[in-house]
Amino acid sequence: MPETSDIFTPDFQARPYWWDAAPPAPAEAPLPEEAEVLVVGGGIAGLSTALELARNGVRPLVIDREPIGWGASSRNGGALAGAGGLGKLRGDLKEHLGAAFLAELMEEGEGAFEQFEAQVARDALDCDYMRCGRFVGAHAPKALEALKRRAEMINETGAGQAEVVSRAGVAAEIATERYAGGMVLHRAGSVHPGKYTRSLARAAEKHGALLASGVEMLDYRRDADGGFRVRTRRGEVRARQLMVATNGYTGAATPWQQRRLIPVASYMIATEELGEARVRSLLPNLRVYGDTKKVLYYFRPSPDHSRILFGGRASFVDADVLRAGATLHRFLLDLMPSLRGSRVSHAWKGNVAFAFDLMPHVGTQEGVHYALACNGSGVVTMTHLGRVAAQRIMGSANRESGFARLPFPTMPFYGGKPWFLPLVGMGYQLRDRLDGWRVRKGGQE
Ligand SMILES: Cc1cc2nc3c(=O)[nH]c(=O)nc-3n(C[C@H](O)[C@H](O)[C@H](O)COP(=O)(O)OP(=O)(O)OC[C@H]3O[C@@H](n4cnc5c(N)ncnc54)[C@H](O)[C@@H]3O)c2cc1C
Repeated sequence: MPETSDIFTPDFQARPYWWDAAPPAPAEAPLPEEAEVLVVGGGIAGLSTALELARNGVRPLVIDREPIGWGASSRNGGALAGAGGLGKLRGDLKEHLGAAFLAELMEEGEGAFEQFEAQVARDALDCDYMRCGRFVGAHAPKALEALKRRAEMINETGAGQAEVVSRAGVAAEIATERYAGGMVLHRAGSVHPGKYTRSLARAAEKHGALLASGVEMLDYRRDADGGFRVRTRRGEVRARQLMVATNGYTGAATPWQQRRLIPVASYMIATEELGEARVRSLLPNLRVYGDTKKVLYYFRPSPDHSRILFGGRASFVDADVLRAGATLHRFLLDLMPSLRGSRVSHAWKGNVAFAFDLMPHVGTQEGVHYALACNGSGVVTMTHLGRVAAQRIMGSANRESGFARLPFPTMPFYGGKPWFLPLVGMGYQLRDRLDGWRVRKGGQE
């Protein structure tokens, strides 16, 4: 491994690049003793629930043990897709769900993306939103075949927005030798996630939501009248309704939810300023990017197009961000070797949450509402599921969300600590390496 001083800039920051422009903000509202709806978790899911409730005259209280927006919501890649994200993790969705139910979920996913765009415009959310499209690189020829099937599935929903890219077409999308082809999703975009989360919080507050940071929920119990007594580090709050939006940071305060979520750390780096011309020479269409590897890379230009932001599962055990940053830098150079010599100005990590069925979930368990399991991509999905949860709380939905009809599975003896992750990660990395080796050898499998 090279000296870290060769990799990191002298003013390197071990925190999200996004926090330079939009750091998570403490919300010092005094904690009331009572709330109509108590939302636990001040990320995109909780804030979206709060905005929808407040817009409709219900005054929610959002608590977060950290500053509002501190979780994955202000740390992510800011890459957005609608239904296109659904088939990403599972190739067997049609068999698993049945064609009709899958079509319904895909339609809901596309609708979520449209609603996302509409909300950004309606609430004038200051978040650098761009409809830039997404390129997904096939890391091996067999992965290109799977991408073709995924493109068909997406286009069957009527959106007609997925386009397969041949090996020869890759150069027009990205300056790399690593991909055997790919797919462009045209209905995809990007945001500045720090600004998006901050503007959701401001919009929710403007409509009357109360936000309180530095308030950790410890546990809760049901009252005889069906309400909740929620114990926090700053005292007890009585709430008519309770909503859990803690995703990859879900803990022992909500054990039923914790047993259904696999928290996984994801890591990102930002390069130093490269200048727009250099970024365009590598990523000419300035989209958001991902690939088909089990341990995928995801990357994009910064909103001002001057840097490249690059992410991935640099480690399957909880790793130090400097170490993970050095690993990601190595991955980036492997993908785009002409970046050799460029340094890293920021490195950070955040937790996502996977469900055992790799699907997002919204629902109600013994009176407790939840929107959980982003499975690695949740900016659009958690915005949508937060809104769905609010409608369930108000009883105002015209139509039940398909995601609320999915069973939320767990595994016997699983308590929320994913001891098996390093093993799974090693298996995935080995498969990716074999695939990559075969591509370099020009093989077909
Ligand atoms: C590095 C990284 C890159 C990503 N890239 C993308 C991407 O490009 N596109 C995309 O769509 N998605 C991406 N994601 C996923 C996306 O960020 C998440 O799906 C989304 O932010 C989840 O929002 P949330 O509100 O559910 O959870 P979070 O934003 O994680 O919020 C949960 C909050 O709950 C709080 N909390 C937990 N327990 C308690 C408690 N007991 N009491 C009070 N508060 C509590 C935490 O402090 C935290 O602030 C990425 C995630 C990461 C980490």
